[in-house]
Amino acid sequence: MWVIYILVALLLLAGLLYIMGNYTFFFFFRSKKLPRIVMLHQVTPDHPASGMNMPPEKFEQLLQYLVSRDSIFCFVSELDQYRDQSNVVALSFDDGFQDNYQYAFPLLQKYRAKATIFLATQIEGIEKLTIEQIHAMDDSGVIEFGAHTQHHVNLLKLSDEEALQEMQASKHEVEQIVGYCHSFAYPFGRFNEQHQQMAKEIGFINAVSTRKKIEAYTELNQYNIPRISTHGAMNALQMRIALAKGRYKL
Ligand SMILES: [Zn+2]
Repeated sequence: MWVIYILVALLLLAGLLYIMGNYTFFFFFRSKKLPRIVMLHQVTPDHPASGMNMPPEKFEQLLQYLVSRDSIFCFVSELDQYRDQSNVVALSFDDGFQDNYQYAFPLLQKYRAKATIFLATQIEGIEKLTIEQIHAMDDSGVIEFGAHTQHHVNLLKLSDEEALQEMQASKHEVEQIVGYCHSFAYPFGRFNEQHQQMAKEIGFINAVSTRKKIEAYTELNQYNIPRISTHGAMNALQMRIALAKGRYKL
């Protein structure tokens, strides 16, 4: 008989762990002393809201919310310097979509919110930022640029030499355009220990991942910085939850 009791207890425990893992409701709200690194891609009214696209109206709501909670905006490369501050937010855009210039940039300027754009310098199949647009954004002081490999590749599918080449070449190309390239973003959030080591050796100050967490910025996660995932259709409550916990899902 007791075997059945134990089995039932184990099943209940497994169910509870499953629920806790899937619903952020059970996660504790994270301290405002921990920096929020927000991950975004497109900001355009031309596509429906999705995990990849936050329409301009929604993006403005996000900025208004961040400003209302006294956010201190910094570039990803500056996270180390802001370690002792509260309410630190680093907005980041992956890939280098042209709509970042058309729709996100004016809003970032309006709210004086800094953001880091990670360029996949040779990416194909998207409308990329032009050199002129990159220069204009860089000159504004509101945007910094980082690298995201040349061809937006899954580093885990490449040999070490190829991976190193992709990372290094993208850094050089960004440097050729704006004169610096401090931070890196792993495409698809796919990488291993070795790639973290490469990012360090190549000379990146730090690197962002797609781990959906809010953590202190330390030497331990400097090349594996977690980011807050967003969705273009998230409502005001989900926005607050995302900023409080790292993911918007209830
Ligand atoms: Zn990407």
